[in-house]
Parts: sequence; structure tokens; C-alpha cells
Amino acid sequence: MRQRWNASTWLCLALIVSAMAPSALGDEIVLKNGKRIAALSVVDEGDKVRYETAAGSLVLPKSIVDHIEKGEGPAAETGANGAAQLAITPPALDSPASGSEIQRNTVHDGGIDREYIARLENEARSGGRRANDSAALAYHTAAQFELTHGELERALADERTSLIYAPEQPVLLMNMAYLHLRRSEYKQSLDYLDRARRLAPDNPDVAKLSGWAYYGLNKPDEAVAQWRHALALRPDPEVKAALEKAERDSREEADYRENESAHFTLRYSGSAEPALARDILRTLEGHFQSIESELDYAPPDSIGVILYTQEAFADITRAPAWVGALNDGRIRVPVQGLSSVTPELSRVLKHELTHSFVQQKTRGRAPTWLQEGFAQWMEGKRSGGAAPELLRNYASKQYQSLGQLETTWMRLPDEAAAYAYSWSLAAVEYIVQTDGMGDLERILDRIGAGEATEQALREVLHDSYGDLMDGTAEYLRKTYQ
Ligand SMILES: [Zn+2]
Repeated sequence: MRQRWNASTWLCLALIVSAMAPSALGDEIVLKNGKRIAALSVVDEGDKVRYETAAGSLVLPKSIVDHIEKGEGPAAETGANGAAQLAITPPALDSPASGSEIQRNTVHDGGIDREYIARLENEARSGGRRANDSAALAYHTAAQFELTHGELERALADERTSLIYAPEQPVLLMNMAYLHLRRSEYKQSLDYLDRARRLAPDNPDVAKLSGWAYYGLNKPDEAVAQWRHALALRPDPEVKAALEKAERDSREEADYRENESAHFTLRYSGSAEPALARDILRTLEGHFQSIESELDYAPPDSIGVILYTQEAFADITRAPAWVGALNDGRIRVPVQGLSSVTPELSRVLKHELTHSFVQQKTRGRAPTWLQEGFAQWMEGKRSGGAAPELLRNYASKQYQSLGQLETTWMRLPDEAAAYAYSWSLAAVEYIVQTDGMGDLERILDRIGAGEATEQALREVLHDSYGDLMDGTAEYLRKTYQ
């Protein structure tokens, strides 16, 4: 009988999908018609009210808002960047008590002991299955260490090697699937999950991960089936929340038509114009090429786009009908009343598509200021109009540093959030205009590899956050005054 690995030697796959998880809501917007909208936070932007939801940042015209009720509940940890996507926490190591000798010998003193791994490999070459299992566990341990340090490529390489020594170990297959999910490589993820399923048909984590892979592939029906199966095997609030959302999508899209282009799968309801759908795909493909050539990067799998008539958009996103597009992994665009791609719609599409690129290129690690700054830059916004106000803000030393704008903006007071968007654009504009897009690309790559943003700025621009702010102000003065 094959020696069974002690489950506790391995890892528990804890996947938390924050974009999907029900979160404590902060503020409420009360509309003049009496309707109430729950939001993580609300920011007054003059004639608009911007509010954050788990699905991204949305905007309402101020004219329809009666008042805002500020709550004090904790805001969720979703990005305020309109690109809240699959934020899956990496598998965590079990309690140290379960750490075997092999694990302790593989990773110690803050690093991986490659000599020790090489010794195990040598033993595996001459030894039996047990030696193979040891080598597999060592590689797997190394992969986990790399994953926690943001080194996804290396983690993938080591996990792949561990599978050579133990090709039928479901946990290794699931971890490979997880790593591919993190890279938005959904098809590859499914390949490993199919193998894991054959070996462990009743493992709830296989079904849970499969649901995410299908969801990423824009196949809500299959995602629903997998998550139902996962729930039947084990109660799981994250799966439940994800399932409810996918079921709403799946019901709504049951009679949708589908169009495909090289890089997009577009679905739209029967009431939208096929000509508009084609027009949008053409526009998106054009934007795709331009962002790809700027960033020297392309997302690996087809990007899902959904066109909604307004009413459906409100039902599905639980957002009011007049909001702009949003990007929660799929780009959702309300199109009622449109028969062609207007310049405004084109800008919105490019902004949202930029979020998809940055999200995937950085494996979801880009700080909010860089996401929003770059999306605004790519859609064609420039800092001219905001420059005088930003320079006054800079002179008063009242501004938030970019370091403070890395995570969620939901806690910012209203005025500060408006500045946050403007400073983010200005900083990105300064980097691109001064050092070129290549530097921005290198910064994103370093962030994607797990480097802290300020460290990436130091390596590429030789700037700290403070230097970047000073340089941005100087750029605004020279360029716009
Ligand atoms: Zn945005």
C-alpha cells in the first residue's frame, strides 16, 4: 500500500476571496427617491459622489443624492481602485508543530538550503518511494517559502519539481493550480485541478479552486456547479458568497449572446445591439494593443466583458443604474441607450482594461495610487487642470504621501480622496514623462515579483516616496505654470 502522507504535514488551503466576501459596510448614501445604497466609504467630489463597493469604485451625480450617512464600521480590505479582483490569500503553513524534520532542514535561517535539497534528490535517485516523497516535500516546502516572499516564478518552478517526485499527491497538484490562479492562468490551473480531482474526487478544495478557475474563464455556469459541489462537501462562507454572486451572473446571462475576439469574451443581453457589441470588441482590441505595447505585457487568458442594459447592471452589481463601468475581474459595462462607442465609453473601456492589465501583471500587488494613476494616464487624462490646486496642496504640506495611498482609500476624508486621484495621476505622469514608460514597466514588474513599492521606486528611479512627491511637484510647476 502506498504510504499515505500525513495530512498535517501539508498545508491547509485557505482561500479567502475578499472581493466576494460579505464585508462590513461603512457608509450609506440616501437618494432623493428614498433608495439607500450601502458603501464601504463615500467621497464627495463636488458635483459627483464617488463611493467604494466590494466590486470597485462607483460614481453618482450629486443632484440625485439627498444625504450621506457616515458609518464607522470597518471598511473591507478591497482596493479602492475599481479593480477589486480575486484576492486569494496564499496557502498558509500549518502549525509549526506539524513541521517535519524535512521542512525544518529545507528552510532555516531565513533561506532555502539548496544543498540539503540536492542531497535528498540524490537519495531519491538511488532510493525508493520514501526518498522520492522526501524530495517532493523539500521542494514543496521551498515553494511555500518562495510564495510567502512573493516569488511566484520560483515557487512555480519548485512546486513543479516536487510533482516530479510525487506526481500523484493531490495537495501538490492543488498548489500548482493555486499558483496558476494567482497568475490568472486559468486553463493551466484547471489542468492540475482535473488531475487532482481524479485522485481526490471528494476534496472540497479541488472544487473550490475549480470554481475560481471557471469564474476567471468567464464561465459562471461551471463555476456555480463546482462551488455547489464544494459546499455539499464542506460548509464554507467564502464559497457561499462567491456562489451567490456567480448564480446571479449565471441567471442573468442565461440568454446572453456571446462574441469573441482575439483577447476578449464578450457577453451581452438580447436587448443590446449586436453592432454595438462588435464595435466595443473592436475598440477593446485597439486598446489592448496599445496597452500591451506600452507595458510589454499581455494577460494570458481571454478577458471577460459583459454588456448590461441598465436594469440588469443594477440587479447584478447591486449598484444603481447610472454608474459607470466597473471591473471586478470581468469588465462590466452598462450600455443602455448607446448604439455606438462614444469617446466617453472608449475612455471608460481603456481605463477599466488598464486595471485588468496592471492587476494581472503585478499579480494583484499594485498599490492603489499606481493603479488609479496609470489607468487615468492611459485613458488620456492629464494633470493640467489640477496642477494649481495640487501645487497649493504641496506648498501647504497637507498632502498624503504616496505611501499612505498604497492601500485602500476608503478611510480617507472626502477631500483627501479627491486629491488622491489627482496626485496619483500626477506622479504617474511625472514618471512617464521624465523617465519613460520603460521605467514604469520595470516598477510594475518588481512589484509583481513581490518587492515593496517604495523599494521598486528606489531600484528603478533611485527615488524614495518623498523624492517622487518633490519631483512630481517640480514637474507640475515646470510643465503647467
Ligand atoms: Zn479606476
